[in-house]
Amino acid sequence: MGHFLKLLFRNRLAALGATVLSALLIVVLITPLLPLPDPNATATAERFARPFTEGHILGTDHLGRDLLSRLLHGTRLSLAVGIAAALIAAIIGSTIGLVAGYFGGRIDNVIMRGIDMLMAFPYILLALAIVAALGPGLMNALIAVAAVNIPFFARNIRGITVGLAGREFIDAARLSGLGHTRILVGELLPNVLPTIVIAMSTTVGWMILETAGLSFLGLGSQPPVADLGSMLGEARAALITAPHTSVVPGVMIFLIVMSINLLGDGVRDALDPRLKSGALSRPRAVTLVDRKGPVPAAEQRGLLDLDALETQFHVGKRVYRAVGGVSLYVKSGECVGVIGESGSGKSVTALSVMGLVPSPPGVITGGAVRYEGEDLLGARYETLRRRRGENVAYIFQDPLATLHPLYKIGDQLIEAIRVHHDTPPKEARAKALDLLRAVRIPNAESRLDNYPHEMSGGMRQRVGIAMAMANDPDVIIADEPTTALDVTVQAQILALLDDLRRERGLAIIFITHDFGVVAQLCDRVAVMYAGRIVEEGPTMQVLDAPAHPYTKRLIACVPELGSGKRKLASIPGLPPVVDNLPEGCAFAPRCDKARDDCRRGAILLAGRGLRAVRCIHPEEAV
Ligand code: ADP
Ligand code: MG
Repeated sequence: MGHFLKLLFRNRLAALGATVLSALLIVVLITPLLPLPDPNATATAERFARPFTEGHILGTDHLGRDLLSRLLHGTRLSLAVGIAAALIAAIIGSTIGLVAGYFGGRIDNVIMRGIDMLMAFPYILLALAIVAALGPGLMNALIAVAAVNIPFFARNIRGITVGLAGREFIDAARLSGLGHTRILVGELLPNVLPTIVIAMSTTVGWMILETAGLSFLGLGSQPPVADLGSMLGEARAALITAPHTSVVPGVMIFLIVMSINLLGDGVRDALDPRLKSGALSRPRAVTLVDRKGPVPAAEQRGLLDLDALETQFHVGKRVYRAVGGVSLYVKSGECVGVIGESGSGKSVTALSVMGLVPSPPGVITGGAVRYEGEDLLGARYETLRRRRGENVAYIFQDPLATLHPLYKIGDQLIEAIRVHHDTPPKEARAKALDLLRAVRIPNAESRLDNYPHEMSGGMRQRVGIAMAMANDPDVIIADEPTTALDVTVQAQILALLDDLRRERGLAIIFITHDFGVVAQLCDRVAVMYAGRIVEEGPTMQVLDAPAHPYTKRLIACVPELGSGKRKLASIPGLPPVVDNLPEGCAFAPRCDKARDDCRRGAILLAGRGLRAVRCIHPEEAV
């Protein structure tokens, strides 16, 4: 709750809305206690008194009634009716939505068709019809406004409930023997509650307006009782001669509806963290590049060169240094492993290469990424787009998430081929078939017509690799491609990647958290910690004689078969959060060998030849 309020008040407009609304609520709550004249006492002699006249701060209306008093009493009534209508609509509508969504089938059909019938009538007309049937009066206006808003809640909540009702936790609740009511109230309601609150906070404003509208037409509050709508209605005749009688309730309606809507938007954003982190704001096609320092001088070491790459996430005032100056290169036919714990910046490094880090919040703040010597970070979008897939391709961890669920894999492969080459469909299909064969998919011909969900995880990852190979790239960046697979399938996929590398001279950057995998596949390895490379070198040398204490601990975490019962080591503590890195060595707080000088100054990556380590008290000299 405290967190919610903090998020809410970080939004200035929402805070403004909340302040205005609370002030209004407090004033109307204490209105009966204030020394105000009777709102309905007429004094025709004093009619249409201007504002700020003696005894009437806001003046009087056409019957000489005190406008301030009428305004406060009227606001009280309008707010009460609007909020009551919103509550009624929310409760009835949400219940209908929950029941329809949960039971589904015929119950859903019958209920929702009823709701559709309500929705088929124009909104205001329906409210008018209801009031006409029930007779004018504030209570009937309330019923009408609530009734016409029920479908809005019912539809919203039903949609969400349908999605939730099929989820495993509902099955689990059923299996544990809970009845329908307990599932509806205990399991489903808490999950849809935020949506109900959001829907309410954004509709109270309308409902107040609608009630005011009905009163304006004389169908709501009846004279002499004032509400905001009826005040406006009565002032209509004197709009020109005594404008203050209309302006006073008009300004109040404006204040109420504005503050409720600002607050409502704030509540929605605060309850939906995705909106804050920018997930719903459309990311740019290319990561924002904003290099503060000079671009490092070109020095070509491989086909793909990362040179002091820095990528940050700017979230509010915080700066997360996800990648803090990574230099890495890979040559044709070479496989370079990048290894590190979860959160060490491996994926962000990989995505920065082709400008795939979502911006906002991602920004590349330094360094260079060169493909065949050409800097990709300054490149135009068209250049980058051409290089994506054609020169540098990616394989991701979860093929089920990267393959489109509604297209056959053959069609997806054909599309990948035809994005870059104007291949006739027949030829593209033949090529897709070749690709599936190249990644050793049995019965490739019939597999072309499979949907992703019809394949096993291992097969899907093969398709993922085939997609990456579709345009004969020179570099493949594989981001934990085997993490979701079981060990035997993992071995097959690794063997496949290794074959492809040898057959086609591919350069592979292989990201993993598993030293066992690195040992099988990679020529060289770079160990990442907190966004930096802490050790690198040829795989065998690093494995045999790890120099950084972190590398040593990582290797000790790999279980060995047949080596008897050995206590598996783990690394105590957690990786640091990258918005507030400690001075000196980032690993020092978790390192049992850390000394005082480890916690001071910058520690450089130093070494000879291919070996380098970022540690001033290494386990082994390099
Ligand atoms: P991994 O090594 O597990 O692939 P990542 O590269 O995904 O790690 O993440 C590196 C760091 O970047 C993490 O500390 C993570 O919290 C941060 N990060 C990643 N994406 C975002 C984002 N969209 N907003 C803020 N921080 C992010
Ligand atoms: Mg990752």
